Amino acid sequence: MIFDLTEEQLAVKEAARDFAQKVLKPGVIERDTHMTYPKEEVRQMAELGFLGMMASPEYGGGGMDTLSYVLAMEEISKVDSSCSVIMSVNNSLVCWGLETYGNAEQKQQYLHKLATGEWIGAFCLSEPEAGSDATSQRTTAVDMGDYYLLNGTKNWITNGGTSKVHLVMAQTHPEKGHHGINALIVETDWPGVSVGKKKTSWVSAVPIRIPSCITM
Ligand SMILES: Cc1cc2nc3c(=O)[nH]c(=O)nc-3n(C[C@H](O)[C@H](O)[C@H](O)COP(=O)(O)OP(=O)(O)OC[C@H]3O[C@@H](n4cnc5c(N)ncnc54)[C@H](O)[C@@H]3O)c2cc1C
Repeated sequence: MIFDLTEEQLAVKEAARDFAQKVLKPGVIERDTHMTYPKEEVRQMAELGFLGMMASPEYGGGGMDTLSYVLAMEEISKVDSSCSVIMSVNNSLVCWGLETYGNAEQKQQYLHKLATGEWIGAFCLSEPEAGSDATSQRTTAVDMGDYYLLNGTKNWITNGGTSKVHLVMAQTHPEKGHHGINALIVETDWPGVSVGKKKTSWVSAVPIRIPSCITM
């Protein structure tokens, strides 16, 4: 078995290291100290293709293998863990989930914007009473025929204050326990969605109407 990195993987690693050292390192302590969201740095990550590395080129992604993605993550994590979490959520939790489980219409509508970093995505699973034991989450999504009525509160949501799209885990079939949890696509601008204070993040204070549901 050959464990050497390919030329492409080495080039990705080098590009990520270069970016981390030149762009992220100079301001990282100040951003951490003041809890500043790295808006400009995230914009540059998008420009360099770091926000949709494994997504298909058809949807504006890099079409890269998992190892290339991990190598880039390592280099960015060494310098700025906030940027690496933002990057990992968009790549692994949002773009991958959408591409793997979403239907053609959902991919067409959301994936290109997310994979290119034009929009940032969030993955909403954790709740105040559901962390490690995520399956005990209480958010519900009731099928109302042509839409879902979603009701619940999520916290610890990376990108929660900046994302345009959220993949929200909710009980669509409570009688099935953890097998009854599905993912719903929620846009931040939809009526009923509100974002709480930093550290607590995403909230749906009143039931919101959701047209999309993807099975995960
Ligand atoms: C930086 C950061 C980013 C995050 N981003 C997201 C995000 O984007 N989306 C999202 O949905 N969530 C996110 N989370 C939430 C994260 O997934 C939860 O924090 C995690 O699941 C743990 O839950 P908790 O914090 O409630 O801790 P708890 O579940 O309350 O655990 C507290 C402690 O108890 C221990 N423990 C728990 N259960 C057991 C057990 N059965 N046996 C022994 N020990 C146990 C744990 O190991 C831990 O040490 C993020 C968290 C952080 C810190």
